[in-house]
Amino acid sequence: MNRLRPNIRDMKGYVPGFQPDDVASWIKLNTNENPYPPSPRVVEAIYEEVGVDGALLRTYPSASSSKLREAAGELYGFDPSWIIMANGSDEVLNNLIRACAGEGEEIALVHPSYSYYATLAEVQGARVRCFGLTDDFRIADFPERYEGKLFFLTSPNAPLGFAFPQEYVENLAQRCSGLLVIDEAYADFADANVMELVKKYDNVVVTRTFSKSYALAGMRLGLAIARPEIIAALDKIRDHYNLDRLAQAACVAALQDQPYFRNSCTRIRETREWFTQELIVIGYQVIPSQTNFVFVSPPDRNGKRVYEALYGRKILVRLLSDPLLAHGLRISIGTREEMELTLAALKEIG
Ligand code: PMP
Repeated sequence: MNRLRPNIRDMKGYVPGFQPDDVASWIKLNTNENPYPPSPRVVEAIYEEVGVDGALLRTYPSASSSKLREAAGELYGFDPSWIIMANGSDEVLNNLIRACAGEGEEIALVHPSYSYYATLAEVQGARVRCFGLTDDFRIADFPERYEGKLFFLTSPNAPLGFAFPQEYVENLAQRCSGLLVIDEAYADFADANVMELVKKYDNVVVTRTFSKSYALAGMRLGLAIARPEIIAALDKIRDHYNLDRLAQAACVAALQDQPYFRNSCTRIRETREWFTQELIVIGYQVIPSQTNFVFVSPPDRNGKRVYEALYGRKILVRLLSDPLLAHGLRISIGTREEMELTLAALKEIG
């Protein structure tokens, strides 16, 4: 007898970017991590939270991540009742779909965007409606009124790197009867963001991650901002101790060191602009990016060839399995030195 639900038994599952064991011997540009460490205050805060001989680890963390919600509320200008902290933004994306879409109900996403949304829908048994993109990066054939339970919009888009303009997103919010979840994982690298739309539209949720701009991928931290009634629902279904003590303390410290954060984002943005220009000079097509990665196509539009040649030189970039994207590669922005080495390798590879 097969005891598994058929959708779980048959699903492929999300495959994260390759994480080599000997990570230090690679130039690793495949999972959009920050090349710089987090603020030094993060490490201090972790030691403090451990306490003498780990004394504090004996006790449970704050179930509501209360200090962290307050720190995030202060930074973003929201009451803490509008904020939920998550074990990586992946956790809250998962809980959003669990809260809104039952088996057989419809959710929507944009193709291409973050492929994990489809995995979450599969687990839930929800139906997925997929909207393509036009050549000028707008959503193709979006209906006047979209009645699905939830629509995931990644802005800035991953893996392509462009951002939708605010008026455009606002128009989508007006056309959705269900939730519009705007995944702003990369917004800290962009010229603008749409977080304020949460105050204007009761169906808008914005999610953020601390994995990229705050360099905390290893600690698993993200959040969602939405009306208190949505946050209250998400609070009911999350694991009650979803963030451990060290992650909470680390994130408060990171949020409070804004000068360090801004400096790290600026360096990455500057390197991104330099790398983009250099690639254009050698005949690559590069989508102007608002993120900490670039989506690029080599002159022969053969992403696989270049991926393999870089791999042979211990430079790891992302070749996406989607046939629509096989002509290109997604390359995370590393340090200036890492990008100079990558550029030299690309010139050699031709
Ligand atoms: N959304 C997008 C668009 C992403 O690229 C990622 C990172 N893979 C996430 C969410 C998940 O981030 P986190 O590390 O916070 O779970």
